[in-house]
Amino acid sequence: MSKTLKFAVLAGDYIGPEVMRSALRVLEKVAAQDGLTLDYAEHAVGGSAIDAHGSALPASTLAACEAADAILFGSVGGPKWETLPPKEQPERAALLPLRKHFTLFANIRPGLLYPELREASPLKNERIPDGIDIVCIRELTGGIYFGSPKRTTALEGGADVEAIDTMVYRKSEIERIAAVAITAARSRKKRLCSVDKANVLETSVLWRKTVSDYVAAHAPDITLSHMYVDNAAMQLAREPNQFDVFVTENMFGDILSDEMAVICGSLGMLSSASLGARQNSLGNPFGLYEPAGGSAPDLAGQGLANPCAQILSAALMLRYSFGLEASAARIERAVRHVVTCGTRTGDIAFGGPAVSTEEMTEAILATLG
Ligand code: NAD
Repeated sequence: MSKTLKFAVLAGDYIGPEVMRSALRVLEKVAAQDGLTLDYAEHAVGGSAIDAHGSALPASTLAACEAADAILFGSVGGPKWETLPPKEQPERAALLPLRKHFTLFANIRPGLLYPELREASPLKNERIPDGIDIVCIRELTGGIYFGSPKRTTALEGGADVEAIDTMVYRKSEIERIAAVAITAARSRKKRLCSVDKANVLETSVLWRKTVSDYVAAHAPDITLSHMYVDNAAMQLAREPNQFDVFVTENMFGDILSDEMAVICGSLGMLSSASLGARQNSLGNPFGLYEPAGGSAPDLAGQGLANPCAQILSAALMLRYSFGLEASAARIERAVRHVVTCGTRTGDIAFGGPAVSTEEMTEAILATLG
């Protein structure tokens, strides 16, 4: 009996539906080749859902995600909804509630730059002769973004104002992200760097001790190192490949993963996975898979978007939520082959001939074939 992959498709706004079409075509092809059955439907999310249903995350969309084993997400937001109050804006009103609802605590972001695309990186090319190939694992549901108290208070009768955010972590939260990092490190070079600020922050002292103890107890095969976050920011820009997998808390990961995206060139090539605390019906992690970039309103409707980030996000879905490593790796190889052979959308063409979203997708489908 063929394996059924049940996932919810939330394409979103602007280029979201364009690149999602590409990813679904690739998934259909791989499913036909590997004897898999796809069971998916598209659901409204983001600004287009606000327009159609009055909510960035309609109850019917959330229910469909609940019933699925994974979410393939496009991107949401854009100028059309930027005048809404911050809380009602598509990213905040759709993506953050999804992360919270499914406790998507582990954000996995590959930082991948093929050597042939070195030119896309702002780093001196001689520093990255083999491109970049690292992975950032960011804790996504704890830390200073969620801790309480979180408030702004008028002081001295309004003469001054004080604002407070709270950084808080539990040992159990650190252990579960350490477990994800160990799995990622095991699938690569078995090297893990934990990034913190243990010279200043109590949460980082707990972070460092917990990661050290957890790796010692559960993964003696992994070589663990520690680095302060300020140094990590410098080392990423100096010599990114000294890292293989690094794991860090929410705010540090927010900043470092964006730095990593910049040094890796175009957002059109970068995928991400956010894994939840719960298992899906197949016993794998429930996850949300999306490109690292946004809805690129500047490209929408013109066939200019690079579909690779969305296609590579679909590959991550096959790997993590469906346990289909071989199918995932085949998609990744096909994307790499097409790009390195010179078929490129504008963001990675460096002034050379550029193909459309559709042509790029066709080339990847042909390579898979
Ligand atoms: P963006 O990531 O959409 O675009 C930044 C730059 O990267 C643009 O020049 C864009 O053309 C380029 N780019 C992004 N994806 C690309 C692709 N697939 N192919 C080629 N080039 C690509 O960031 P922005 O312009 O700051 O934000 C646009 C909207 O997207 C905003 O409303 C923002 O809130 C939203 N956003 C959504 C998400 C999400 O849904 N997860 C993430 C980031 C931003």
